[in-house]
Amino acid sequence: MPAAPEQPVLRFAPSPNGYLHIGHAYSALVNQRLARRLGGKLLLRIEDIDTGRCRPEYELAIYEDLAWLGVAWETPVMRQSERFPIYAAALEDLTARGLAYPCFCTRGDVSRALSDIPDWPADPDGVPHYPGVCRGMSALERQCRSAAGRRSAVRLDMRAALGGISGPLIWREYGESDAAQQIIADPAIWGDAIIGRRDVPASYHLAVAIDDAALGVTDVVRGMDLYHATSLHRLLQRLLLISPPAYRHHDILRDDHGAKLSKSARAKSIRALRAEGESAASIRRRLGF
Ligand code: GLU
Repeated sequence: MPAAPEQPVLRFAPSPNGYLHIGHAYSALVNQRLARRLGGKLLLRIEDIDTGRCRPEYELAIYEDLAWLGVAWETPVMRQSERFPIYAAALEDLTARGLAYPCFCTRGDVSRALSDIPDWPADPDGVPHYPGVCRGMSALERQCRSAAGRRSAVRLDMRAALGGISGPLIWREYGESDAAQQIIADPAIWGDAIIGRRDVPASYHLAVAIDDAALGVTDVVRGMDLYHATSLHRLLQRLLLISPPAYRHHDILRDDHGAKLSKSARAKSIRALRAEGESAASIRRRLGF
């Protein structure tokens, strides 16, 4: 008998560092529509590794606003702040394999190291590639700095990581269509990216790669602003022996001035629109649902 086809699993993964706005509503609704069309389930993941900016009241607002909009998710809800030991173990593993290293540099150290270098490359977020100051540090020096209380981030050693994989690194991209394309990942555009922050043993990139696999996500539906991040996620998946989901990056809603809504001062929160008397049905209609 042929094996039963796996049930598609989708997830909406907001960060509780502010109230959801119309761009989040769009992403959640695209997820819900696709989950229904594929006969899949929709999960919710709270991406709260940024313990300084995330607040419980924003998390509660996520549940309330989504429910008000008519978005339903299956429980349990995954909360990343409860999973730090899992991310820390992955960081240790990558470091022990020589694919990642502790970095003691502050932002100021990095700018100083780059101050005389013209035309230095930057990553897709506009952050200059790390110049490698801490990459070749001896184990003894690392130990001394840690013992002296110097805190470190963890960076991926991009060259070592790329050297350690064989075969092409690709992902299946649907965009907003029904036809998949094979996209060749290009993780080198990120340089020696931070995969463990100085304050918490995780980064967005590491946590998302691990958690999409842990939840059995088959289709990642998220905004086009994360398209280039997928190259790094694919590399982390390969290094951590995780099988990749398909990706469906959707268009980003912009304000009248072309600014991404999340960055725009004009992005009204869903609860502000609701307080002004707009109904959930009207927001859904406005977004094409
Ligand atoms: N937490 C991210 C955000 O709120 C989304 C991450 C993802 O969907 O991969 O932008």
